Order: sequence, then structure tokens, then C-alpha cells
Amino acid sequence: VSRIFALVSPHLDDAALSCSRLLAANPGSQVFTVFTGGPSSVDPLPEWDLLSPELRAGDDVTAIRRVEDEESCALLQAAPHHLGFWDEQYRASLYGYAGPATDEELLDAVAGSLSRALSTVEADAWVMPLGLVHPDHQLTAVACLRAFTTEPAPERYLYWDLPYRLWSPDQIGEAEDVVKAAGFALEETELPSSDDVSLKRKAVGCHRSQIAPLDELVEAAVVGPETFFRLTRTSAGS
Ligand SMILES: [Zn+2]
Repeated sequence: VSRIFALVSPHLDDAALSCSRLLAANPGSQVFTVFTGGPSSVDPLPEWDLLSPELRAGDDVTAIRRVEDEESCALLQAAPHHLGFWDEQYRASLYGYAGPATDEELLDAVAGSLSRALSTVEADAWVMPLGLVHPDHQLTAVACLRAFTTEPAPERYLYWDLPYRLWSPDQIGEAEDVVKAAGFALEETELPSSDDVSLKRKAVGCHRSQIAPLDELVEAAVVGPETFFRLTRTSAGS
């Protein structure tokens, strides 16, 4: 039986990389992507963008990536929502960044935005990333834990970030400790998922600008298992 998942994604490619098979089996799910913004002209390209032959100095990179996400969500029959916070690589005066100035202010703003977004969508369950390696992933996870605590959530789940989970498995324990300290227990669980790996490969392939930078991690994420945990409240947290 398919269900409607409200899934939180740090960047525009993370839902496809980590949860394509979940989304494909649960049409009508909603994807809330946090870091979808940046300057309308990215010049010079930062280190990560320079790895992509699809991008040129002066491109509106996040606009290009939002279109890629819309294509990938359409393939997976999911609805994309873009929360508009600026990607870490552009949060600098060089790019005219004028958003929340400190990490704490950014966290407050993201948590508030997620609380509003998640509480207004009809969903059977909310799903957050574990939050591995990248500071945007870590911030998204902490913001989700706040939203999951303050809002009357239906069921709550967590997914392992791909490909970071393959890249830096040593960081899983530390990230799980953040979840536990927020007052949640994690229990690995199966969620209804599609066996169609070629569909996942196509969905990930929609993110054309990210294929060269991710390199062999693309295929690792495509074939790597999608892993989910059920979250249950243990206490008020610490
Ligand atoms: Zn990411």
C-alpha cells in the first residue's frame, strides 16, 4: 500500500540520490528541499561547480538545478517544494549573500520554514536525512529534529544520506548521537520501495550538473541500498 511521504532534502539532488526508490513506490509524495537558492549570476564558480562541464561562470546555477529537480520529481511522481535558502557554497559576501548571518540564525530560519511547510501538507509520514558530512546536511537534520519535536507529526522516519553514507561511514555514529540527544530512538525499518533501479538511475541522471562532480558516487548511490529508520520519541531530549 503506497503512502504519502513528506520528505526533507538538503540539496536539490539529495531526494533522488537517497530516496528515489521510496518516492517511486509512493506516488504523490512531497519533497521539501531546503538549500535551493543562490545568486542569479554565479561568478566565479566555486570549487564544486567548477567540476561540472554543464556550468559556466555567470550561470544562475540554482535555477538550473531547480529545473533538474522538477524533472527528477516528475519522473518519480513526487511534488517538489523549494524552500529557497542559499546553498553553503554561495553564503558569502562575494556572492551578495544577505540571508541569516550566523549558523544559529540560519538554523532558526530553516527550522521555522520546515515547521510551517510540514504542518500544512497532508502526509502519512515525515522523513528527514541523518545529516552526514556536508554542513548543509547536518543543519537540515538538526532543523528537522526541531520541527519533528515541535509539530504534531504523523509517523517520523530518517534516511541515510547517499552517497555520503558510502563515502564517510565513520560519521554515522556521531550523526545518530545528535538524533538521540534530541530525544529520538532510531530503529531500522523497511518502507515500501520500488525495485526499479533503472528508474532511479534516470531520476538521478536528471541532475545533469551534478553527474561529473559526483563522479563514481553517482552509480554507487544508484545501486546502494536506500536505508530507513523509524524515529520514536524517548524523552524531552537533552
Ligand atoms: Zn547534498
